[in-house]
Amino acid sequence: MSNLVVKIKHNTNLTEQLSKAILVANYAIHNRYSLSSKNVSNIGLPSAISNQILRKYGKNKKCKKINPNKIKLVAPGQAIKVDGNSITITPLKIKLINQSKYTITKVNQIELDSNYAYVCFEKQDKQQMLVENYIGVDLNATSHCVVVANPQTKKVVKLGKQAPHINQKYKKLRASLQKKQLYRKLKQTKGRESRIVKDINHKIAKSVVKLASETRSGIKLENLTGIRKSKKNRKSFLYALHSWSYYQLGHMICYKALLAGIPVAYIEPAYTSKSCSRCGHLGNRNKKVFKCGKCEHTDHADANAAFNIAMRPHTIGADKTEIVSYGETDAPIQLLNDVSRKTIVETVKPPIL
Ligand SMILES: [Zn+2]
Repeated sequence: MSNLVVKIKHNTNLTEQLSKAILVANYAIHNRYSLSSKNVSNIGLPSAISNQILRKYGKNKKCKKINPNKIKLVAPGQAIKVDGNSITITPLKIKLINQSKYTITKVNQIELDSNYAYVCFEKQDKQQMLVENYIGVDLNATSHCVVVANPQTKKVVKLGKQAPHINQKYKKLRASLQKKQLYRKLKQTKGRESRIVKDINHKIAKSVVKLASETRSGIKLENLTGIRKSKKNRKSFLYALHSWSYYQLGHMICYKALLAGIPVAYIEPAYTSKSCSRCGHLGNRNKKVFKCGKCEHTDHADANAAFNIAMRPHTIGADKTEIVSYGETDAPIQLLNDVSRKTIVETVKPPIL
């Protein structure tokens, strides 16, 4: 289940209600500990609406000042009736017609500004496709942001080549701004970097989901919960991007896949980069090259890891509850026996700065 927002023009003059909302919001930020709609009933907004505004602004401690141009009326789910494609906001007597491609059955809340209603609703995930095969996604790749391996087609796709460079570029820029004590600029660059990375992550996640859907495969990822705690992984994390970006990307892949009906599964990350994808034995990883200690198999380290991820039995399903028994002895590890494969490097275009 995921939440989506649909924007619908409401064709209603809300000038009066919006100016009342400003008064309610101002009350909220100055009386954070008595957020009862009774205290603002004199302003004259319906109590269901003022209640939501009080909560929205009063509970947000970061909000110290109300911007009158950004104020919105907020209607809770209980005050909204849905009938087919018509959505009625009872306390405001507004009727909206849903002409979007989505079927809306349950509305969480609606925010309104002078022109639009922002309808937030629960989108039912598509029924999951039944799959036999999985593609492996290595988020912890060194030279690329993400490496995707498909054991069935033997294809390796590398995505997000530019991401580590963006990180390097901004790291340098920040260091120089720090030296010059330009703190405001420093803060601005941080925001800009995270916007660029977010945009790249969206595109990478979209490509990963497309690769899975084209081959009717599921997606396997490493279960990175708790990996941040381990000191060992710090170094490899710093190689490419910040850890928040990995979490963001993992999350984006998961929710985009679920929306498309593609199953997502997680594997235990131990030794994915140190075991051989052909014979399962431990090998040596030297920067970008993996060398098996037993069968002489040599491969690009990230590709080898991605194949391991794809073929390892998963322990956690997309809903994060399904536990499939997994152990060295009772779950035979599937291995690659054919090494002939193609490597495709796909570059996602960075946004224009
Ligand atoms: Zn081997």
